[in-house]
Amino acid sequence: MKLNLNIQPLNTWIQAKHEPLLIAGPCSAETEDQLVATAHLLAATGKVTALRAGIWKPRTRPGEFEGIGSIGLEWLKRAKEETGLPTTVEVATGKHVEEALKAGVDILWVGARSTVNPFTVQEIADALKGVDVPVMVKNPVNPDLSLWIGALERINNAGITKLAAIHRGFSSFEKTGFRNEPMWDIAINLKTLAPELPIICDPSHITGNRALIGYVSQKALDLDMQGLMIESHIDPSVAWTDAAQQVTPGALSEIIDHLVLRKPEIKDIDVKDALSELRAKIDKIGGKWKILIIYAVSKNVNRFSSLKRALPLISKQMLVNQLRELEEDGILERIIYPEIPPRVEYKLTVHGLTLMPVIGILQEWGISDLKLTRKTPLV
Ligand code: PEP
Ligand code: MN
Repeated sequence: MKLNLNIQPLNTWIQAKHEPLLIAGPCSAETEDQLVATAHLLAATGKVTALRAGIWKPRTRPGEFEGIGSIGLEWLKRAKEETGLPTTVEVATGKHVEEALKAGVDILWVGARSTVNPFTVQEIADALKGVDVPVMVKNPVNPDLSLWIGALERINNAGITKLAAIHRGFSSFEKTGFRNEPMWDIAINLKTLAPELPIICDPSHITGNRALIGYVSQKALDLDMQGLMIESHIDPSVAWTDAAQQVTPGALSEIIDHLVLRKPEIKDIDVKDALSELRAKIDKIGGKWKILIIYAVSKNVNRFSSLKRALPLISKQMLVNQLRELEEDGILERIIYPEIPPRVEYKLTVHGLTLMPVIGILQEWGISDLKLTRKTPLV
């Protein structure tokens, strides 16, 4: 599967003032002074290319600060006039789009809580028809690549060609110290499906913790993401929203100074690292059978006996071993239905599903290779 997005390269609509491309600003616009003063300090670092601020805030619980509303658009206008920084805000309804455009906001973004809802995304897309404005689409709250892709397609179908994705991590039961699990493989899969689509990382919402922002920013750059969106507040300790993850403009500047940019030339050491990463992957899905088993399971051939029939040349013992290893590596899971005798089925895990684009590409390659060499495949 390849995504057919019609998009313009990132540098046609935003030129980084400094590497990496950095969009920064408070989680929320709170007061005119807070926003304008933060913007001045950010501009003074010389490292920020655009100013972000939320003015309509989707909050999980009612009764929390829900954003300052449209008046914030006037403050953004003033911040832009005084600092020269282009501005970006989150839009969650058609009305937000209209108001933001009327106020001259330069870039819009769709938040994680909107990306989950195709009705909301479609409403935003409809309001964007006939407008030439850059739009960034955050990943949905839940780890569902199709929802993210669907939102990007809806916005693109509305005629928006200045498009980027923002990776802000995913909700998960499994907690490893992040507010939202990065699940880097989902962003990498998006990159594989749409190599031309820029992906900007939002380490603030991934970490929820300012101490980890440098670490996650570096990881994003190592994975070749095209920029960073980081929350910055003139005084994070009194921020009305997301206080624990915001950094002062001074601290932001230091974080950026410590980042190591990928070098354009590939050094031996990079190749060595890449090879060991590749080795780790091959160990998990390499060998004669694993890819075939994964493919068969993805097509609902998911019982031992039907797998054995689909792959007549595999021995029973080998099939048992391969299934066990795929289970141990978290690619397949075994579901036991309490029947007499118990029915056992294999299914791809969420992690296993992330292999499907890779397998799809291998399969396409296999088909064209067979056409060229006219060999009959041996299963
Ligand atoms: C935000 O950027 O402040 C925000 C609400 O983010 P998200 O949609 O990623 O939760
Ligand atoms: Mn926030």
